[in-house]
Amino acid sequence: MKLFNLSGKVAIVTGGNGGIGLGMAQGMGTCGATIVIAARDGAKAKAALDVLRGADIQASFVPADITSKAGCESLVAETEAALGRLDILVNNAGIMLRNQPQDLTEEEWRQVLDTNLTGAFLCCQAVYPVMKRSGGGKIINLGSMASVFGSPLLAAYASSKGGIVQLTRALATAWAKDNIQVNAVLPGFIDTAITRAARARMPGLQARIEQRTPAGRWGEPKDLAGIAAFLATPASDFITGTVTAVDGGYSIAM
Ligand code: NDP
Repeated sequence: MKLFNLSGKVAIVTGGNGGIGLGMAQGMGTCGATIVIAARDGAKAKAALDVLRGADIQASFVPADITSKAGCESLVAETEAALGRLDILVNNAGIMLRNQPQDLTEEEWRQVLDTNLTGAFLCCQAVYPVMKRSGGGKIINLGSMASVFGSPLLAAYASSKGGIVQLTRALATAWAKDNIQVNAVLPGFIDTAITRAARARMPGLQARIEQRTPAGRWGEPKDLAGIAAFLATPASDFITGTVTAVDGGYSIAM
C-alpha cells in the first residue's frame, strides 16, 4: 500500500490561484495528483499554473465562481469531462471583511457567508454523486482560528468559519459509508493576500502575531502542503470529521 501516492487522482482546489490554496495544491501535486484550480481571476491562475507546471505538476484552470450552485455544478462537470474523474475537493476559496457587527451591512454578511460557507457546501453537494459513483473521495475544508476564537471585527467571517467546522462534521457522518472522508484544517496566521491587507490596515499586527505564536513566526502557504497531502492520500482513510490546526501552536498557547 502506497500511503502518500496520488498518481492518477484529480483534485479541485477552489481559490487555488494563490495563497494557501496554491500551497495545498503543491502538496498534493508533489504526491502525483492532477490539480484543477477553480477561481475567478485568470491572470492570477496563469501565474499559479506556471508555478505548478514548473514543479512537474499537471495542472489546469477552470474559471469558477463558487457562490452559485450552477457555478459549482459546471466546475465539477467540466473537470469530469476534461479529466475523466474527480477524487479530491479542497474548499479553500474565501474572503474576509472586517467591520463592527453593528455596522456590518446585510449585503456584506451575505457576501462572506455565500463565499466561505454556502460556496463550500454547494461544492460538496456537486462532488458527492461523482465521488459516490467512483467508490470514495476526500474533502478538505478550510476553517480558521476564527472558527474557535472570538474577534470583535469578524462576526461574518467567524460565523462562516465556525459553520465550516460543523459542516465538516455533518458531512463526515453522512458520507462515511460512501468512503468519502471530510476533514477541516484551521490555518493560523499565514502570509497571503488576505492577511497582507489586514496588516496594512492594522499597524502592529505583524509583531503581535509573531509574539503570540509559539513558533515565533507567521506561516507560509507551503506550511499547508503537508496537511493537504496527508488528508488527500490513503494515509488518512480512517480519519474523518477531524479539525486540525496548522498554526505554529497559536491555538494551544496562553
Ligand atoms: P487568498 O485571498 O490568497 O485566497 C483566497 C482565494 O479565494 C483567492 O485566490 C480567490 O481567487 C478565491 N475566491 C474568493 N472568492 C471566490 C469565489 N466566489 N469563487 C471562486 N474563488 C474565490 O487568501 P488565503 O490564501 O489566505 O485564504 C485561503 C483560505 O484560507 C480562505 O478560506 C481563508 O479564509 C483561509 N484562511 C486564511 C488564513 C490566513 O492567515 N491567510 C488563516 C485562516 C484561514 P479569485 O479572486 O481569483 O476568485
